[in-house]
Formats: sequence, C-alpha cells, structure tokens
Amino acid sequence: MQTQLIPVIQETIAGAEAESILRSCVHCGMCNATCPTYQLLGDELDGPRGRIYLIKQMLEGQEVSQTTQTHLDRCLTCRSCETTCPSGVQYHRLLEFGRAEIEQRVSRSWLQKSFRSGLKHGLSNPRLFQLALQLGRRVRGALPSTLRDKIPPQADAALARMPQVQHQRKVLMLAGCVQQSLAPEINAAAARVLDVCSVQSLQVEQAQCCGAVALHLSDAERAKQQARANIDAWWPCIEQGAEAIVMTASGCGLMVHEYAGLLAGDIAYHEKARKVSSLCVDLGQFLYASRSLLI
Ligand code: SF4
Ligand code: SF4
Repeated sequence: MQTQLIPVIQETIAGAEAESILRSCVHCGMCNATCPTYQLLGDELDGPRGRIYLIKQMLEGQEVSQTTQTHLDRCLTCRSCETTCPSGVQYHRLLEFGRAEIEQRVSRSWLQKSFRSGLKHGLSNPRLFQLALQLGRRVRGALPSTLRDKIPPQADAALARMPQVQHQRKVLMLAGCVQQSLAPEINAAAARVLDVCSVQSLQVEQAQCCGAVALHLSDAERAKQQARANIDAWWPCIEQGAEAIVMTASGCGLMVHEYAGLLAGDIAYHEKARKVSSLCVDLGQFLYASRSLLI
C-alpha cells in the first residue's frame, strides 16, 4: 500500500514503524474473514482492512471524527486477523499507534472518559474487582439477565488451592487481575498438571495486571508501568532459574510476549523485557514440550 504520512509523524520512531506496517498491507481483505467484529457488524470499517485504511488516512493528515474513533474502539485486539494475513501485517502495533494518535485528536465525553477510567482502574485492581464481584453475587437476583449471566458462582476453595509440593524445576504463573477473582481454579488446575510433570508453579504476589487492559484503552504509559512492575516482581525468580512464565490466559500471554516491543525504548528495562518475553509460553505449548512426562 502506498503511503504519504505527514512529516511530523513520519519522522518519529513510531511513525516510521507505522508506515512500514501500512506498506506491508496489500489490501487483499483476507483478514476480514476471521475478524469477529466484521462478521458481527458486516461493516468494512469494523474489520481490520477498513481500520488499517482509517489509520492510514489519519496518519496522512486527513480529518478524523468520533465515528473513526468508534470503529477503532470496537476492535477487540484479539489479533485473529493476523493469523490469516498472508503479508504478516503487524496489525496490533498499527492499532496501538492509531489509538494513541486518535486520543490526541478526538476528545471524548466525560461519560466515556469516566467509563474507560473505571474499566482501566477497576478491572486491573484485583481487590476492587473482587469487591465488585462479591457485591454482584449478593444482588445477583436483582440484576438484569445480561449482567446476571456473567457472574459465575464462587469457585470451590479446594479446586482453587495451588499445590504446595516443591520441585527443582520451577515456572512462574501470572495470577492476573480478573481471572484470580472470576476463575482462580484455572491456575490451580494448571499447577496440578504441572505438578504431575514435577514442575512447581510460582505465583509472585507483587505481580499485577499484565497491562493489556490499559494498552487496549490507549494508555500505553500505564501499560508500561505495569510491565515494569511485573518484570521487577518476576526477576528474582528468573535469576534463580525459573524456566518459563506459563500463561493460562491467552490475552495476558500475548501481552507479556509484547513486553520486549513495549519497552524497546526503555534503556533500564529493555534487556529484562526481552528475557521475560522469551520465557513467556502458553500452557499448551509448555505441556506439549513436556508431554513425555505426562504419559
Ligand atoms: S489480510 Fe493482511 S494484507 Fe490483506 S488486507 Fe488484511 S492486513 Fe492487509
Ligand atoms: S484484532 Fe480482532 S477485532 Fe480487531 S480487527 Fe483483528 S480480528 Fe478484528
């Protein structure tokens, strides 16, 4: 795709990367086939190809509006489109630039700002989220069915308990922000399977939200702070030989994989971020590599 980015953007590191991504797109539209928002809404501008075009227009200096912002907001950042792109377009990186740019150009209503701030701070704060969930469970019967159906029952305490057996082989596991309240049994179940492979799972208390919530809400600075905090929390275990960071939530896994890119310009953290990203694996990948121990 040909581009003519405005010089003030083109001359920045982010602008140069955005331009290179835009140029790698051949506008074939194959990505639309695997995009859930395009499938649901049927609007070209609610699919990856349309969003790429909107971002291109914006970076070329054309007018943008709240409608443009809405189309970018609707993207789930699921990256399903990247799996079908024959050109290997790094759509998620382009979207990050696009969202950051449109935040500068289009203001939001106070209602939207409050809602987004509530999501950003509420979802990524496990204590706050746990409180809200407990409250939701108490008033469950009075809630509309759309909300009621999303509140799971309290997890069985026995199923949510991590195994206490120590092993020489150790991996890190992220408790996460929402998952530890909604479904704490997931990490515990994964840890029991790893225990069978003689691998001990460590959850470091100081680790926090992976940063995806903030990044998806256009707050890259907060996402970077959370990435640095997690690196600091995990680093002593990594130095002591933790061999992997096993992720049980794919969205968090993708985010931790991105730490190297997110902190590329951070002299103090870049090398550590690269190490952390390289250690991050999905539970399925780890188990596949350890399958001989399971049989
Ligand atoms: S599939 Fe890839 S190259 Fe084709 S339009 Fe989508 S992003 Fe561009
Ligand atoms: S990240 Fe997901 S929702 Fe966004 S354009 Fe790609 S497939 Fe569609």
